[in-house]
This record gives sequence, C-alpha cells and structure tokens, in this order.
Amino acid sequence: MALRFDHIVFGPIKSRRLGNSLGINLLPRNGKVCTFDCIYCECGWNADGREDTSLPGFNEVCASLEEGIARCSKEGVSIDTITFSGNGEPTLHPDFPAIIDRTLELRDRYYPQAKVSVLSNATQLGREGIKEALSKVDNPILKIDSASEDFARLVDRPVSGHYSVSSVEKELEWFQGDFILQTMFLRGKDGLQEIDSTEPALVREWTELVLRLRPREVMMYTLDRVPPLKTLGKVTVGEMEAIAAPLVAAGITVQIKG
Ligand code: SF4
Repeated sequence: MALRFDHIVFGPIKSRRLGNSLGINLLPRNGKVCTFDCIYCECGWNADGREDTSLPGFNEVCASLEEGIARCSKEGVSIDTITFSGNGEPTLHPDFPAIIDRTLELRDRYYPQAKVSVLSNATQLGREGIKEALSKVDNPILKIDSASEDFARLVDRPVSGHYSVSSVEKELEWFQGDFILQTMFLRGKDGLQEIDSTEPALVREWTELVLRLRPREVMMYTLDRVPPLKTLGKVTVGEMEAIAAPLVAAGITVQIKG
C-alpha cells in the first residue's frame, strides 16, 4: 500500500537517514504529484494519486509550519531535521523559495540546532530560484539514480520526454559539490526487462559521474518498503559498500542504508 502524508506537517518520524525528522509535505494531501514516477516510489504510482492534485497555498503552508514547529518545541519533542519530502516533488510548489526562507526563520527561532533537508529529484533545478533556495538549506539531497539515460528512464520514469541525466548533471555543477547526491540501488524485473543497478557498466558510469560532481556526501540506499513494481528486490549493504569503495578511496563521504 502506498505511503501518503495527509498533513502539511507530519511526524517527527524516525528516518533511516536523517534521524528524528519533522516532515513537510508541499504536495496534495490525498494524491501525488511528481515529475518522476519511480518504480520504487513509496507514495505509489502517479496514476493512483490523481484524485487530488491541489497544492496547499503559501499562507496555509506557513501557518502549518509555525503551528507544527512551535507545538513540538512546547512539548519538548526532539527534532534533528526538518525535511521536505511528502507526496511527490517538493520543488514543484510555486512558492518553494519563499517557503524555504520562512522555514529557515522558524528553525532559527525554535530549533536552531536542527538541520533543514530537502529530498528532491533535481528535475526543477533549471527553474528560477530553485537552485538558490536549495543552496540555503543544510542538506539539499538531490537524486540521480543512474548515469545511464536509458537506465534512469527505466527506474525513474520521468514524466517529461525532455528529461536527461546530462542536463541535470550540468545544473548540479552549479553547487560546486555542496550538495548530497542520493542514489537508489535495486534489482528485479520490469516485464521481461532485467533491472540491476549493480551491473558493472552502470556502476562504472555512475562512479565516473560522482567523481566529476564530487558531492560533499553520497547517500546510497535500497528498498525499505514494498515498491509499486512488486518484482523489485533489495541490493545488499555489502554490494553497495563494494560499489562505494572507489569513492571512499577518492575522499568522498558515503552513507549506505540497507
Ligand atoms: S522522485 Fe521521489 S516522489 Fe517522485 S516518484 Fe520518485 S521516489 Fe516518488
């Protein structure tokens, strides 16, 4: 069953990667809106989330943010990170840059030690103000699942025919390494098509891409819940460690979640 977030502010929840995480959902409460339709998406397929496509307005988001963060502070709830994720791609929200500014103000007031993180598929980096907004947060966590255009299309199913990994790579160069690169590793079948992120040619291309971009950290992870494409399976921590070895040797910090 798809995991959906029916509030703007949710949690905090214990995150495998981010600790005690207060979640922010800028997407529809009862649907899903994303520029990808990843075969592993915990929110399910885009087609199953079209019953609600309305995004919350700026004022509603800001009021919910302040209410949620202030309530946690009053109740003494511990928060390690305030995380933008939710039912789709957060940077699609038309007021994303202004919402980030407001979040940073609230974080400084109520939880100055907490980090602000954004989980993004990096497809909107070319839109005005998006890169700048992401560069203000502590953890811009930006996804590239493969350096291979074909494999990225297979796994991420971009909605636009114009998506290309190479154009995302160019946008990512703007960060000069000050971002976290996130990559999903999995294997299985999509119909007759074999899918395996650990194939040597794919690993080589991905490693070269990471070495070109030199992000300050790489997050490698695998399936945690049952994906919408049920024929997929996990990659082991040991396999991801072996893939990460040349990056670690090159001085890049790698976090692996199995
Ligand atoms: S980018 Fe994230 S939200 Fe969008 S389909 Fe992929 S996993 Fe789901």
